[in-house]
Amino acid sequence: MPAVVNKDECTACGACADVCPVEAITVDDVAEVDPDLCIDCGACVDACPVDAITLE
Ligand code: SF4
Ligand code: SF4
Repeated sequence: MPAVVNKDECTACGACADVCPVEAITVDDVAEVDPDLCIDCGACVDACPVDAITLE
């Protein structure tokens, strides 16, 4: 399953988008993952400083 952002926790820091190898994450007010692009690698989960992304 693709990565999912907890919008209440996300601070829009952009760290997840920086490490995503397939550019599946865009960050505006909060990070958003395109589930069609996400390859479930987990890099964003490790990169998020506030644990706002999980692999469901
Ligand atoms: S799990 Fe990997 S591919 Fe999916 S959004 Fe996170 S960094 Fe990108
Ligand atoms: S790394 Fe975490 S806090 Fe930063 S934009 Fe991504 S989901 Fe939001």
